[in-house]
Amino acid sequence: MKPDDPRIQWVDEPPLGLAGRMYLPLVVQGLAVTTRHLFSKKVTQSFPEQRPQFGNPLIYRGVHRLNKDDQGRVKCVACFLCATACPAHCIDIIAAESPWPDREKYPESFTIDELRCIFCGMCEEACPVDAIELTSLFDLTGRSREEMVFDKEKLLSVYDMTKDAEPMRSVSGVDPVQPA
Ligand code: SF4
Ligand code: SF4
Repeated sequence: MKPDDPRIQWVDEPPLGLAGRMYLPLVVQGLAVTTRHLFSKKVTQSFPEQRPQFGNPLIYRGVHRLNKDDQGRVKCVACFLCATACPAHCIDIIAAESPWPDREKYPESFTIDELRCIFCGMCEEACPVDAIELTSLFDLTGRSREEMVFDKEKLLSVYDMTKDAEPMRSVSGVDPVQPA
């Protein structure tokens, strides 16, 4: 359609008065919005001074932890089910013969690339011994990709950091799929 098509109906803009030319209505409108927000309920938090509170941290999908058993050993039995279930292929396990008589294997090396992870929770769902769980920690950061590939020691240290606030699912009985 061309600009001179007779079917086009052109509408003239209403002329601006003095107040309009000085943007006064818009300034007043903006100040009204600002004032309203000054006195309304805050919906943001001053992170990191204020930490967000989760209703139930066990249903939050933050960084992983490798759980320990009651003797302080890694619970993982190196069955590879989590790595098989992982859609992002970010779990890498090297199994070795277990030094303990109650299991055949243990993970000599266990790494998770937290930058590739999509935090779907499939790994913790797949684990037959509740050895891997996602925690409510969301701000463990690093300055390089290498730092964000969490090894076994780091994953076990996340367990130590979170075990009191977030007991193991097998202990708490919380199902992360069903919100509490
Ligand atoms: S949360 Fe999902 S993507 Fe991340 S390691 Fe587990 S299975 Fe893989
Ligand atoms: S974390 Fe669980 S699922 Fe993954 S290898 Fe260890 S025992 Fe198997």
